[in-house]
Amino acid sequence: MAGYLLARAGVPVIVLEKHADFFRDFRGDTIHPSTLELMYELGLLDAFLKQPHQEVRELRAVINGQTVPIADFTKLSTHCKFIAFMPQWDFLNFLSTHAKNFPSFQLLMQHEVVGLTFDQQRVAGVRAKTPRGELEIRADLIIGADGRHSIIQARAGLKREDFGVPIDVLWMRISKKQDDPQQSLGFFQQGKLLVLLDRGDYWQCGLVIPKGGLDDIKARGLQQFQNGIVSFAVFLRDRVAELDDWSKIKLLTVQINRLRNWCRDGLLCIGDSAHAMSPAGGVGINLAIQDAVATANLLGEKLRSGPVCVDDLRKVQARREWPTRLIQAMQIFIHRRVVTGRSSDRKQSLPFVFRLLKSFPVLRQIPARFIGIGPRPERYCSSGG
Ligand SMILES: Cc1cc2nc3c(=O)[nH]c(=O)nc-3n(C[C@H](O)[C@H](O)[C@H](O)COP(=O)(O)OP(=O)(O)OC[C@H]3O[C@@H](n4cnc5c(N)ncnc54)[C@H](O)[C@@H]3O)c2cc1C
Repeated sequence: MAGYLLARAGVPVIVLEKHADFFRDFRGDTIHPSTLELMYELGLLDAFLKQPHQEVRELRAVINGQTVPIADFTKLSTHCKFIAFMPQWDFLNFLSTHAKNFPSFQLLMQHEVVGLTFDQQRVAGVRAKTPRGELEIRADLIIGADGRHSIIQARAGLKREDFGVPIDVLWMRISKKQDDPQQSLGFFQQGKLLVLLDRGDYWQCGLVIPKGGLDDIKARGLQQFQNGIVSFAVFLRDRVAELDDWSKIKLLTVQINRLRNWCRDGLLCIGDSAHAMSPAGGVGINLAIQDAVATANLLGEKLRSGPVCVDDLRKVQARREWPTRLIQAMQIFIHRRVVTGRSSDRKQSLPFVFRLLKSFPVLRQIPARFIGIGPRPERYCSSGG
């Protein structure tokens, strides 16, 4: 998104992606109302909505067997009053196809950044591994948008604060049938959580487990694991045997961390590279996109005429840091109270906050705003400055 917006503002941009395609399983599928609003501002919304997707106007969770509406997006002030569920590879293909219409945009696939180059203390470029050998690319600004295992962040020596996360996620596919119940946010049960993402002909399943708990789960055997899935979602009973080998069940480690300084001379980190997000609340993609908009707004015009100074880069952090802190605080709260904590471990009871959401529909607008728009939403300035 940062590449698209900067190229649109007339800045020559090269995006390096280490894989040959965007077809990675380990990404969320949520395109939030604020991102859809951005698509509207960019004139891309109609084309975007023609891509296969599902529109979710209300998020529901099944908590200890009771269905509870959590967030109602229909009252938002955006053009799209829903979350669009679209596999992220489709979204990235869509975005990069449109970015390629700008003469100043280049996308280089199979270019893996392996290091940085420096002019004294200033970051001057990257070294990338490509199918044709190693390459050095120099640039006025390097933007680290390489996710939660960011090599750019590590090579730049930026200091990071890690916040303990008590969970990991097991990630697997189970086929989907036409008469399956409609998608809900997830199934909470006695302190455990199963999330199902509708990917057309299959469910992408995420089972939240205690951090480091996979060995114990394996020791109890596949049969018990399958039974555990069925205890959340009975309709999967006739298909859960598809998970007949541990190789079909992938462990995704969840982290929450944040850089103290998101930049140094010649380099800026945004998205998970600056602040790794947990899947809790499904807001990390939105936050990363909002960082990209702020980057294009604050730096686009200056980058058109050359390098920017570190004070300019700090403005991006100054703008985006408090929304990040707020959302990460919420994620830490969800981990402690809702997923692994007191709010969900009593057998049949509905935690207080969910009883409120169930009884007072108007309250569902609060999570809708937080998830769908987020704190301090960014609007794209077409001047890029
Ligand atoms: C299990 C799980 C589920 C999640 N579900 C959701 C959800 O439903 N909704 C939501 O909003 N958030 C979700 N999140 C959080 C969300 O995935 C992240 O916050 C978001 O993807 C961050 O976007 P990003 O662009 O910063 O990084 P990423 O999406 O991680 O993108 C980084 C990109 O950089 C590329 N790359 C990495 N290293 C290099 C390199 N050295 N050289 C070149 N390219 C490189 C990668 O291939 C990738 O394309 C989830 C997180 C997890 C762990």
